[in-house]
Amino acid sequence: MNSTPVASAPPALDTLRHVFGYPAFRGQQQAIVEHVAGGGDALVLMPTGGGKSLCYQIPSLLRDGCGIVVSPLIALMQDQVSALKLLGVRAAFLNSSLPLEHASVIERELLEGELDMLYVAPERLMTPRFQQLLGQARIALFAIDEAHCVSQWGHDFRPEYIQLSVLHERFPDIPRVALTATADNATRAEIIERLQLQHAEVFLSSFDRPNIRYTVVEKDNPRKQLLRFIRSTHDGDSGIVYCLSRKKVEETAKWLRSEGLNAYPYHAGLDAETRATHQHKFIRGEGVIMVATVAFGMGIDKPDVRFVAHLDLPKSLEAYYQETGRAGRDSLPSNAWMAYGLQDLVLQREMIEQSQAPDEVKRVERQKLDALLGYCEAPACRREVLLRYFGEESTPCGNCDMCLNPPQTWDASVAAQQALSTIYRSGQRYGAAHLIDILQGRETPKVIERGHQHLSTFGIGKTVSDVQWSSLLRQMVAQGLIGVNEHGGLLLLEPCRPILRGEASFMARKVREATPGGATSVRR
Ligand code: ADP
Ligand code: ZN
Repeated sequence: MNSTPVASAPPALDTLRHVFGYPAFRGQQQAIVEHVAGGGDALVLMPTGGGKSLCYQIPSLLRDGCGIVVSPLIALMQDQVSALKLLGVRAAFLNSSLPLEHASVIERELLEGELDMLYVAPERLMTPRFQQLLGQARIALFAIDEAHCVSQWGHDFRPEYIQLSVLHERFPDIPRVALTATADNATRAEIIERLQLQHAEVFLSSFDRPNIRYTVVEKDNPRKQLLRFIRSTHDGDSGIVYCLSRKKVEETAKWLRSEGLNAYPYHAGLDAETRATHQHKFIRGEGVIMVATVAFGMGIDKPDVRFVAHLDLPKSLEAYYQETGRAGRDSLPSNAWMAYGLQDLVLQREMIEQSQAPDEVKRVERQKLDALLGYCEAPACRREVLLRYFGEESTPCGNCDMCLNPPQTWDASVAAQQALSTIYRSGQRYGAAHLIDILQGRETPKVIERGHQHLSTFGIGKTVSDVQWSSLLRQMVAQGLIGVNEHGGLLLLEPCRPILRGEASFMARKVREATPGGATSVRR
C-alpha cells in the first residue's frame, strides 16, 4: 500500500478506484487531493456528507510516510479505521480508550513505516511523548478534522486544538489539510490564523443541501404541531427531534410513544448502555424517532434520516445547519422543521446573560442569537439567509416554506405604534403575553393588580389577533426596534422612534393562522 507517486496513470484516480472502489471524484475532491498530495496546505470547507475523508486519505496513500489525522471524535475514529482496514489500508488509531500495550505496538508500527494512516485525539498528539515520536517517523501529512474546534467563535471550541499551531512550526515542510463542515466567515478567519494556514489554498464547496426543505412554524401548541407534522409528512419515517433539556427530551419521547410513535429518548444523563441501545435502534431500525438533546448526532452516519425537528431554538445558525444536516444524506427529499416562539428567544437570552462566560464571549453569543432570529423571522427565502451566513450568495430556492408559500404582508404601522406605546406606558418591563393582554383589553388579575386597565392603550388592539400580535412583537425584536431584557421584558430601542412618532411605516409578515403542522408534504 505504501506508494510513491507514479507519473503514468493519474495516481489519485487510480487510488480512488482501486482502493476505495469509487468510479469518480465528487465536487472538489480531485483538486484537493492533487493539491495536498503535491505538498500544498489546504483548508477544506465542505458540508457534512460531502466526502471530506477522501481528501486526506488518498493523499496519505499517495505520499511517502504515514498520514496523521487529528480528530476529536473517538467513535468516528474507530469507524473510519475499521473501514480503512477492510479496504486493505494500514490504518490505526491512538486515543485514551486504548490499553497501553496496544498503544505501544502502534507506536512501533509508526516508527517502522508500517502505517499508512494514524488517527489521533488532539490531546494525545500534543503530548511530549507523541511529539518525540513524530520527530522520528516519516510523516505524509497532517489532517486536522473538525477544524472549527480551534475557534472560540465556533460552537464547538476545544482548547487542545489551539496547540495544533505547533505542527506548522515544528514540521514546516509537511503539508497540512484542515477540514470542517461548519464555518461562517469569522470562524474561517480564525481557523486560518490559529492554524497558520495563511498560505493554504481554500477549497470552499457549496453548503447548500437542496433536498432539505426548511420550515419554521410559530409555536402555538408545539407538541401537537410536531405530531401533526410527523403524521402528515413523515408517517413511518426515521427522524430526530431536538429539545433543549433532558427533561423535555424524556417527556416528548414518552408523549410521542403514547401517541403510537416509535420514539426513544437520548441525552447525556442516560446511562451509557441505554444510550447505546437507543442509538442502535435508531441506526438499524426503520421508522425510529430519536428525541434528543444536542448530545446526539455527532458522527452519526445514517443516510435515510427523513426529518430533523427542533422543538427549541438551536444555539446558533451553524449548530442549526449541522443538526439539520443529519437529514437526507441520501439526497432524497427531507424536512428540517422548527417550532419557535418569543419565549425561546427569551430563554436563550437568559442563558447567555446568566452564564459565567466573559463579556467578549457573551457578545459573540448575542450576535449569534440575533443571526438565528434573523433566520426564524426571515421575510423571504430561508435558504438564502442560511447560505448567506456561510458567505454564499444564492437565489430564492423554491424549497422552503417562504418560497413555497410566500407570506402576505400587512401595513402594521399603527399596530406597531400601539405596541410601542404600550411597552412604554407600562414601564418597559413586561413580557409579550402581558402586553398583549393590555392591547386586547383583558382584565386579567395581573392587569388589575398593576392597574394597567387604566392605560390609554388598554383595549386598543382588539382588531388584531393574539397570534398576529405575538408575531409582530417578534418581528420588531428581530429588526432591532424592541429589545428583550434578561427577564423577558420588552423595552424600546432607539430605532423605534420614527415608528412611535408615526413618521415611519412598518410592514409586517402576516402569520398564517392554523396551518396544520405547518410543513408542506414532500413527494417521494
Ligand atoms: P464528510 O466527512 O464530508 O461528512 P465522508 O467523507 O464521511 O463525508 O463521506 C460521506 C459519504 O460519501 C461516505 O459514505 C463516502 O464513502 C462517500 N463518498 C465520498 N466520496 C465519494 C466519491 N467520490 N464517490 C462515491 N462516494 C463517495
Ligand atoms: Zn426558499
